[in-house]
Amino acid sequence: MTAVPFLDLKAINLRDADRFQDALRRVLDSGWLILGKEVSQFEANFATYCESDHCVGVGNGLDALHLALMAWGIGPGDEVIVPSNTYIATWLAVTYTGATPVPIEPVEAMHNLDAARIEAAITPHTKAIIAVHLYGQMADMDALAAVARKHGLKLLEDAAQSHGARWNSRSAGASSDAVAYSFYPGKNLGALGDGGAITTNDSALAETIAMLRNYGSRRKYENEFVGYNSRLDELQAAFLSVKLPVLDRDNARRTEIARRYGEGLSGLVGLTLPFVPQQAAPVWHVHVVRTERRVQLQAFLQERGIGTLIHYPIPPHRQKAYAALGYGEGFSRLPKRSTAKS
Ligand SMILES: *Cc1c(COP(=O)(O)O)cnc(C)c1O
Repeated sequence: MTAVPFLDLKAINLRDADRFQDALRRVLDSGWLILGKEVSQFEANFATYCESDHCVGVGNGLDALHLALMAWGIGPGDEVIVPSNTYIATWLAVTYTGATPVPIEPVEAMHNLDAARIEAAITPHTKAIIAVHLYGQMADMDALAAVARKHGLKLLEDAAQSHGARWNSRSAGASSDAVAYSFYPGKNLGALGDGGAITTNDSALAETIAMLRNYGSRRKYENEFVGYNSRLDELQAAFLSVKLPVLDRDNARRTEIARRYGEGLSGLVGLTLPFVPQQAAPVWHVHVVRTERRVQLQAFLQERGIGTLIHYPIPPHRQKAYAALGYGEGFSRLPKRSTAKS
């Protein structure tokens, strides 16, 4: 029996059980189950929350990333800069377009993409950078936006773990071309199933993605391009509208718990606590500590009923799925990639 489970989704969602019932009833009464009022209302409210002009709801976070890259016309022969340290979805979105993910090491203390290492990886084929706000803390968006601007690259943010986080008091999207969100149940803003969204200030991009998610269609039975079926589900949108108003309160609670962890764990030899630079206001999707004695610490905590997980045990470039890219053990000691310049 785990006294402190890693994540208790049941408890989190039962809190709002009555409001979920009301939301279900609302959708049933409306008789509209796909791309209805619930989706458009949630899109409007989430755009406002994110201080963004547009929000397009999609099927999940991976599709949010993929459809944004697609809308920019990124495809075979292109390269997209991605963090080496991220959940594999960031990479898969690039692979789906036919482009190649080009991994960059993180700033060690903050786990996020290191802007200073990007320029050395840029080739004539580079089209975009995906910044991931891993573990709930935003990457250095000032530095990343400067690199993207200088080289004329699209900048996409993967905010699947960072709904509500800020960098220099600004929300994700303030200095990028688009932001991809996931509403997977375990995320800070989680649905009762899959869901995702893209926010952007670019109205043409929002319109293209709104078509891409719905068979490339603007008008029923008229298909302007080869699109997908990746719509945010009407019922999930209704459930998300129950949770969006309490997101800031939930994030504040996470911050309070992180503060207590920081207090209680500070000064322990061999344990590195999360580093939060003064520009960052993280939302603590997870609280990541680092130690050389990871196995022992995990077992020690497990014996005392405290659940932990490793985020992530195998980085994308070491997954079997990406064996063809030819990356060896230890990212910095990689065999040289053949970057055939044209
Ligand atoms: C969860 C996650 C995704 C993918 O979201 P899904 O909704 O599961 O497709 C993408 N990137 C990161 C960093 C994530 O944590």
